[in-house]
Amino acid sequence: MERVIDCPVCYDTDNCFEDVQENYSSYLCFHCGFMSDSRYEISSLQLVENLKKSPHDKRLDVENAKEYSQYEFLKACKEMGITRDLKQNA
Ligand SMILES: [Zn+2]
Repeated sequence: MERVIDCPVCYDTDNCFEDVQENYSSYLCFHCGFMSDSRYEISSLQLVENLKKSPHDKRLDVENAKEYSQYEFLKACKEMGITRDLKQNA
């Protein structure tokens, strides 16, 4: 189950999600890249700082890819020149 929460880092109220699992919750903010997990100490500022310094970990890239497919896939394709190539071949 996924629900929107207030981001503890950038305080965005629309783009930070809590994904509630059976034994823990994970958190991901699409605005600032914050991600955490209830198995960690969420209140640890040190952890938050570490997360800020490494926003491009593998899992975040997966989430970004998912977001691209939902909202910006065509835009991303254009940026990479894919849609232009498709038109030329059509
Ligand atoms: Zn945030």
